[in-house]
Amino acid sequence: MRKLVVLGGGYGGMRVIERVLGHQLKDVSITLVDRLPYHGLKTEYYALAAGTVSDRDIRIDFPEEIDYIYGQVTDIDTGDKMVLLASGEKVPYDDLVIGLGCEDKYHNVPGAAEFTYSIQTLEESRKTQQAINGLSPGSIVSIVGAGLSGVELASELRESRPDLTVRLFDRGPSVLSFLSSRVSMYVQSWFEEHGVEVINQSNIVRVDADGLWNHEQHFPSDLTVWTAGIQPVAVVRNQGWELDGGGRVKLTPHHYVPEQPDIFVVGDNASLPYAPSGQLAEAQAEQIVQVLLCKWKGVSYPDLPDIKLRGTLGSLGKKAGFGVFMGKQSLTGKVARLLKSGILWKHKVIK
Ligand SMILES: Cc1cc2nc3c(=O)[nH]c(=O)nc-3n(C[C@H](O)[C@H](O)[C@H](O)COP(=O)(O)OP(=O)(O)OC[C@H]3O[C@@H](n4cnc5c(N)ncnc54)[C@H](O)[C@@H]3O)c2cc1C
Repeated sequence: MRKLVVLGGGYGGMRVIERVLGHQLKDVSITLVDRLPYHGLKTEYYALAAGTVSDRDIRIDFPEEIDYIYGQVTDIDTGDKMVLLASGEKVPYDDLVIGLGCEDKYHNVPGAAEFTYSIQTLEESRKTQQAINGLSPGSIVSIVGAGLSGVELASELRESRPDLTVRLFDRGPSVLSFLSSRVSMYVQSWFEEHGVEVINQSNIVRVDADGLWNHEQHFPSDLTVWTAGIQPVAVVRNQGWELDGGGRVKLTPHHYVPEQPDIFVVGDNASLPYAPSGQLAEAQAEQIVQVLLCKWKGVSYPDLPDIKLRGTLGSLGKKAGFGVFMGKQSLTGKVARLLKSGILWKHKVIK
């Protein structure tokens, strides 16, 4: 029996498992290791933090057909082909897929790690939710970073707690300008109409218990959430493998670590020609399964096509949204929001 071990039951890891299970292979066992007892829908953590969805709404049970180990991965012994867990347990593998996702990157900003809240893990998002929802009326919430997650958190929070002052610190000249100018203008004016203060061209240089410094100016803040950067989890960064500028593992065209043909890396941990996303993690996972099936059959690997992404969708609270498809077609308003809800529904019910 060949032992496939998957580290991380996120978007990439789950897609690998679902596709391998679909082949009903008699001679391959699947073991999943995760510190969560279910698949957490990370794309919705902003809504949990804002207090608009419950914990149960944003998780999916792991499949019953696999062996599941609840634990924290601390290291990988590639010589003995073992995964080491914080409990001391060692998990042997024949083939390993690493999909442990990301953590915040603080860019050496003093005080950022100590004084900001996070929405990068389910546990951190729960803490953020508790802190936000315990704030007294009129409190100021600052969100550092106006990428997709910062924008979604700011708008959801505006709807969830209209009594709070919400400030969004954006590094660029207008929010989400990397998507399209139409989307950027739409989102920027949504924030103006809904009373979210957007501070463009910001550069947060320090955070402390009372607030944050944007360039030379101090902004008081009762609670600050960091959405200004991500990097792969430390256990992946520390393996000694070649990394790209974002700390992601450089891979062969067939998604395994050079010189380590039994170790595949998926999702936010992998160096790929697109910004990390759940969609990318799933598309890459499909290709990894193609390669694994060839490996197990003993046939040579096919040339893999370039990964194609459908586009980007985001929400502005529960009634508005935005999207860009095929790199250029923009969509804004209720239809974009409905599409986003539809994709979430599909992810929850259709494998
Ligand atoms: C607020 C927000 C909104 C987003 N919106 C979108 C969106 O609309 N569309 C989109 O495509 N992407 C979106 N993303 C990005 C997307 O969530 C990630 O790119 C995606 O989750 C990456 O998938 P992954 O499989 O690499 O890792 P993840 O889905 O993060 O899964 C990693 C898994 O590893 C586990 N894990 C981590 N470390 C350990 C450890 N040491 N031991 C054991 N288990 C561990 C975690 O518990 C988790 O289950 C969003 C992200 C955020 C934060």
